[in-house]
Amino acid sequence: MPTPTCPERHIFDILIIGAGPAGTAAAITAARAGLSTAIIDKARFPRSKLCGGLISGRAATLYAQIFGGALDPNLFEPRTRISFHAGGAPLGSAVESPEMFLSMRCDLDAHLLSLAIAAGAVDLTGHRIEALELEGIPSARLADGRCVMGRILIGADGVNSMVARALYGRAYNPARVGFAMEVEAPPLPKAERTTIRIDLGAADWGYGWQFPKASSTTIGVGGIACANPDMRARLTDYRRVLDEQSVVPVKGHHLPFGEVRHVPGRGAILLVGDAAGLVDPITGEGIAHAMQSGAAAADAASAALARGNTAAALPAYRRALRPLHRSLRLARWLRPLLYGRRTRAPVLRAFAASSVLKAMYLDLLAGRAEYPALCRRALWRMPGALWRHRRGAETQAESGKTLAKRRKPG
Ligand SMILES: Cc1cc2nc3c(=O)[nH]c(=O)nc-3n(C[C@H](O)[C@H](O)[C@H](O)COP(=O)(O)OP(=O)(O)OC[C@H]3O[C@@H](n4cnc5c(N)ncnc54)[C@H](O)[C@@H]3O)c2cc1C
Repeated sequence: MPTPTCPERHIFDILIIGAGPAGTAAAITAARAGLSTAIIDKARFPRSKLCGGLISGRAATLYAQIFGGALDPNLFEPRTRISFHAGGAPLGSAVESPEMFLSMRCDLDAHLLSLAIAAGAVDLTGHRIEALELEGIPSARLADGRCVMGRILIGADGVNSMVARALYGRAYNPARVGFAMEVEAPPLPKAERTTIRIDLGAADWGYGWQFPKASSTTIGVGGIACANPDMRARLTDYRRVLDEQSVVPVKGHHLPFGEVRHVPGRGAILLVGDAAGLVDPITGEGIAHAMQSGAAAADAASAALARGNTAAALPAYRRALRPLHRSLRLARWLRPLLYGRRTRAPVLRAFAASSVLKAMYLDLLAGRAEYPALCRRALWRMPGALWRHRRGAETQAESGKTLAKRRKPG
């Protein structure tokens, strides 16, 4: 990218590129801390954004902490049940889910942006960036010729981040990145809208989902991109399983599905949300981590500016992200158990039979537990489960012997 040379310069404390959940969380946090803040997005809001729009309990809690206020039921539709399937067959009956919501990202993101602007962030959405300069005081030249600078720059521009590309030469690793395809099908009848459906195995190293909302039904499949070169066909198959054949556009988008950037930035530049690879490699959840990292980056930037040392922001931000990084790394390590060819079938059988495993998955979605705590809980239960498994096998063998004796003539 060429270096910006502009006649008109504006210097902000914080310059944010990208106005999704990560960028708006950073903007509202920085503006409320009294920092002069500008947020740029190439899109004008409301803008469409391909996403299931599932707001987990974790995301809902973060929304309340960062943006404040009650959850508007028009933006956050509560859902109370979840059903798991594999190969089209149910893995047990639908269960009560913890607090969970469905949203349309077009509306949600416009709402988040309006809150950030109301808090004092300068709205530079609807402006394309022509040039980005990351050396010295970071700056961006907009298509209208204006040059905006930020003592600290926060890259919140998603999986195809231009900031990450400027720093590292590419935004993601094509061998690891995820890919998902979705349709917005017509809404289901009201009585059938209570249950969220997850289909494990609808894509390789991923899953399918049916999210019934008031205005539409979001149906999608997603997984590791290189394991699913036929993702469109997988979506067609999945829609057939759901008996859904409406004529609607099919759209696809990458997601950083297990690609955590261990050093999310350089100098006075911090990467947040998808730009920092913060999507859960098992569930695909990204909205909560986007909000969390956006707010954490703004806090770290605010403390660094107060000390007059912008370079202090990145180490402080990395420290704040440590628990999340640890959890996502562990999830990546666990992923082959759930999605690997050899282990998938026994794990799915165990999942179908075990209310405990389902409860663990739901605790994860609710944000009541993270992977390290879930692993500790699983290890704690392991001796008991093995003992019960052995007892079961022994009892089966015993009853087999008795039956054989009874059948013996004489
Ligand atoms: C099909 C699909 C389904 C998903 N479903 C879920 C789900 O149900 N629940 C969940 O939690 N997560 C889900 N995710 C993940 C979730 O969408 C992301 O993790 C989340 O949107 C990340 O937020 P973000 O703010 O980092 O980036 P984004 O939401 O992608 O926002 C980035 C912003 O940057 C702007 N931008 C990009 N490039 C530039 C540029 N050059 N200049 C200026 N602006 C730019 C974009 O216009 C955009 O507004 C899904 C992802 C996909 C692909």
